[in-house]
Amino acid sequence: MNDRIYLSPPHMGGEELTFIKKAFDQNWIAPLGENVNRFEKDLASYSGRGHAAVVTSGTAAIHLGLKLLNVGSDDEVICPSFTFVATANPIRYQGAIPVFVDSDPHTWNMDPYLMEEAIQDRVAKGKKPKAIIVVHLYGMPAKMDEILNIAANYKIPVLEDAAEALGSSLNGRMCGSMGDLSVYSFNGNKIITTSGGGALLGDNDEVIRKARFLATQARDDAPHYQHSELGYNYRMSNIVAGIGRGQMKVLPERVESRRQNHRRYFQALGKTWLKIGRGSNGLEFSTESPVGIYFLKEPSGFYSNRWLTTILFNPEETDGITSNEIRHILEEQNIESRPLWKPMHRQPLYEDAPRYINGVSDFLFRHGLCLPSGSNLKKENIDRICEKIIEIKG
Ligand SMILES: *Cc1c(COP(=O)(O)O)cnc(C)c1O
Repeated sequence: MNDRIYLSPPHMGGEELTFIKKAFDQNWIAPLGENVNRFEKDLASYSGRGHAAVVTSGTAAIHLGLKLLNVGSDDEVICPSFTFVATANPIRYQGAIPVFVDSDPHTWNMDPYLMEEAIQDRVAKGKKPKAIIVVHLYGMPAKMDEILNIAANYKIPVLEDAAEALGSSLNGRMCGSMGDLSVYSFNGNKIITTSGGGALLGDNDEVIRKARFLATQARDDAPHYQHSELGYNYRMSNIVAGIGRGQMKVLPERVESRRQNHRRYFQALGKTWLKIGRGSNGLEFSTESPVGIYFLKEPSGFYSNRWLTTILFNPEETDGITSNEIRHILEEQNIESRPLWKPMHRQPLYEDAPRYINGVSDFLFRHGLCLPSGSNLKKENIDRICEKIIEIKG
């Protein structure tokens, strides 16, 4: 049996242990210390943001972000339907209600025009959204110019979930620098990892200080333990932050490797960019591919870290073979692939949530597949995966 090829495994750079060892030598193992402070500085300067607070997960960072935007009980929050559940769950943690908005076909992220329709409809119902969460899925930036413009017109703050988009940019502005607040994740499968962790970033020093305060049980300034506010135990440890400092040194290389994976798959699998059109039976593939496989193009000015390479199969061109069948056959070859995110409006957990749907995320979920995309993925393995896919579909 061939060695297993994973979807997106961790990839250490070499200096992580040096930073961890220093923390051990100083016996500085607590959720405070030099590694935490320096990792926060590294993140802020890389993304071009004023300040960062590192925490135990991206989910925790989103939760703190919503709290700092004063999202509370029964408030509504606009959220893309096409995302990982961790984007939406913190809305519920706050007792608030997600309002799901479908994707645009050019970035797969929240459709700005549908978002504006949703806002207008919520306002007409007397429920102006308290905040907007925008996600850059698989590393592709969302249409931020349009989204930020609309958000500003309605005076609604934006929380940017850049968990998958560290290193991506839009016309030179980093993903994670554009929302009122923004979030990164360092989970095990992300573009860099601390084994688990996240960050909340913003330009207002006071707001980020407040995030650190809430993340350490909201302890008042007193020698005894006094608390006036509800806090959390969300702070990142000094050991974990040491991994983060090591990973930051190799981040540009990691982005380049993932982009190279994408180029190799694109070359080997027929070089066709996806175009979606509207036919008599709903959305359909509106170009033709020599192999029935399609890739998401970067619109002009968009720079994706290509965290995961995603492809779509048109069953009409692949003798009826679906992405799900391909996934099973790859699995038999010890190759891990994964369906695209199942839209939130299809999740039992959120069956009651309001939604504004145009069919794009359903189309992507039906036809799409994430391919192995690690920054340590070898060219021979990409060749092996592509040969297998081409063999399956004949
Ligand atoms: C990974 C991820 C998160 C959550 O990050 P964790 O660190 O795993 O809590 C949030 N949103 C998106 C889009 C993600 O991919």
